[in-house]
Amino acid sequence: MLSFEAGCCPFSVNQRYQVLPITVYLNLSFAPQNKYMPHFFCTFAVLLPNVIQTHKGDKGLVHIIIYSTMEQKQYKRTTITAALPYANGGVHIGHLAGVYVPADIYARYMRLKKEDVVFIGGSDEHGVPITIRARKEGVSPQDVVDRFHAMIKKSFEDFGISFDIYSRTTSPTHHQLASDFFKKLYEDGKLLEKETEQYYDEEAHQFLADRYITGECPHCHNEGAYGDQCEKCGRDLSPTELLHPRSTISGSQPVLKKTKNWYLPLDKYQDWLKEWILEGHKEWRPNVYGQCKSWLDIDLQPRAMTRDLDWGIPVPVEGAEGKVLYVWFDAPIGYISNTKELLPDTWEKWWKDPETRLVHFIGKDNIVFHCIVFPVMLKAHGGYILPENVPSNEFLNLEDDKISTSKNWAVWLHEYLEDFPGKQDVLRYVLTANAPETKDNNFTWKDFQERNNNELVAVYGNFVNRALQLTKKYFDGRVPACGELNDVDKQALDEFKDVKEKVESLLDTYKFRDAQKEAMVLARIGNRYITECEPWKVWKTDPKRVETILYISLQLVANLAIAFEPFLPFSSAKLRRLLNMEGVDWNALGNTEILKPGHQLAEPELLFEKIEDDAIEAQLKKLADTKKANEAETYKAKEIKPVVDFADFEKLDLRVGRILACEKVKKANKLLKFTLDDGSGTPRTIVSGIAKFYEPEELVGRDVVFIANLAPRQLMGIESQGMILSAENYDGGLSLLSLMKEVKAGSQVG
Ligand SMILES: [Zn+2]
Repeated sequence: MLSFEAGCCPFSVNQRYQVLPITVYLNLSFAPQNKYMPHFFCTFAVLLPNVIQTHKGDKGLVHIIIYSTMEQKQYKRTTITAALPYANGGVHIGHLAGVYVPADIYARYMRLKKEDVVFIGGSDEHGVPITIRARKEGVSPQDVVDRFHAMIKKSFEDFGISFDIYSRTTSPTHHQLASDFFKKLYEDGKLLEKETEQYYDEEAHQFLADRYITGECPHCHNEGAYGDQCEKCGRDLSPTELLHPRSTISGSQPVLKKTKNWYLPLDKYQDWLKEWILEGHKEWRPNVYGQCKSWLDIDLQPRAMTRDLDWGIPVPVEGAEGKVLYVWFDAPIGYISNTKELLPDTWEKWWKDPETRLVHFIGKDNIVFHCIVFPVMLKAHGGYILPENVPSNEFLNLEDDKISTSKNWAVWLHEYLEDFPGKQDVLRYVLTANAPETKDNNFTWKDFQERNNNELVAVYGNFVNRALQLTKKYFDGRVPACGELNDVDKQALDEFKDVKEKVESLLDTYKFRDAQKEAMVLARIGNRYITECEPWKVWKTDPKRVETILYISLQLVANLAIAFEPFLPFSSAKLRRLLNMEGVDWNALGNTEILKPGHQLAEPELLFEKIEDDAIEAQLKKLADTKKANEAETYKAKEIKPVVDFADFEKLDLRVGRILACEKVKKANKLLKFTLDDGSGTPRTIVSGIAKFYEPEELVGRDVVFIANLAPRQLMGIESQGMILSAENYDGGLSLLSLMKEVKAGSQVG
């Protein structure tokens, strides 16, 4: 939101502007628009000739897009990479929203523009967590990665992520290329050789990765801390800080032993990185640029690029037996080797020709590796191009909690498809509409349902269905001819003619969320147009006029099929089938004569379906069950209170009481009023906060334990003479104490 005081324009002509396309929402409700708007636009027009006003909202909101005035570098081709998912689990909505949907939108868009493009993906299959899982399951690491690679690959195919290749880092091509890459750095003297002391398991005869060492945390004294982190207090640790360290492989106490590894001297490239990123790439997203800056503001340290481990790519150097390349060294090289696997003869131009634009799509946890470590590797090696942009998203939360694989707090793609078959596009739409482009965002099932029902069904689907059904009804499904245009027609046509420029300017700058919104504006225009024109009424009096209304509506529908193609490929394909449209011509976007008069349409079908409440409730229940299971698993009994003397204990008079009557306390949803037989002959009243856990009727006749000599208390105007005992479960649930054998009411407990 941009605001300025009435009568004073904040934009000085002297100010130097270096702007990228941005969307501005101006709230001008405080001022008569006609008085200030000309001044405002005039000022902007001087600065930026590409300012356009796209639409005015009803509350004085003006939506403006400012195009870039910076010259864009021209490229011959584009290499798009999407972060390699780790083959140690499935793919969830956080992955999709953070990396794969935006990368796919961009790849589809570039192909539609007839750009030369490759879209590269693959599984990251090395590293310690895979070996840990394999050991736990009693299988080989290869078994683990085979299983998850197949599962991940299928999820991407199911959701239309249009990789040109989806390979893996265990492929022979990759092993060879990564090995050669390292060898060149080594031979050119670009790596540091360093000897350090590391923990070694003498029984298992191997060095221990940080995760293979557990011990007591020096900070919180949690006994199950790992060599790299204590999961209880969250502190980062190094293995030598652990008290009483143990090897998780043999259980023995590890010993420190000298080992040699090779380091990438990031410090030597610090000045170059500062210039390349901080000076040369100010247009990168603020979250990416900011994270790079905070790394570059402190002194970079050399990073080990090899590990003492037996799962990975062997270090191709003499004397390096038993060592492999660090997973973060080999994984990004996977982009290159997968391109080579796809294009064995021409791969080099995609990675070495300066006229290639290289774009890495990643999540924010990968920024340092893609903006600092990998570029230094490429630079040190020589001959490779560097990324032109690294659009990284922030994180997506799920129902207000961080997505977590270990806690199973996630929506897994394969499970989503079981529950919502054929609804890939709904998820794609919601994840883009709610994309964490600039800050962490939240996925909720309620929002998912609302966006489907109120936007995809009620706006897009409804408009398409009305246009197709009416054309079938009045013209046997043939596109009618366009007659004379009135003002309403002209306005509708005028409103969508620049949709192509708008969507392109946003996609070119990786603003996928706003770009999809622009495509949706098109559907809103159509929906409003057909509602305003009411062809179903006009038909009775002026059928000729209906021809024009439906002609224009159908052109809008055809435009929607094109505009949504990068975002919702499945629905766009279906819509093209309904329209009998061959292929997608991106350049036709904005064209008002796509479907010629007389063109035959197919039988109409619904494009989207409403999602009912019970489907959403089922998902919420699934999450609630997960939460419960997690709480039960992490439950720990509270600490025992300080010791009390027997004499103090004896002061309490605990008794058995039989429930004579029980009822809810009015206006207090937690309280039940009990009438007890306490053996005295006079009924006793006790109020207890247990109403959420028991129905009053089921308690009558049961025996409970109560404190008979507790000072009486007033609760909601009732005197409570004592306290009924119950146990509190980990989740706050209460359970009344009952007796294993029957005793007389009033019996003493102790
Ligand atoms: Zn700790």
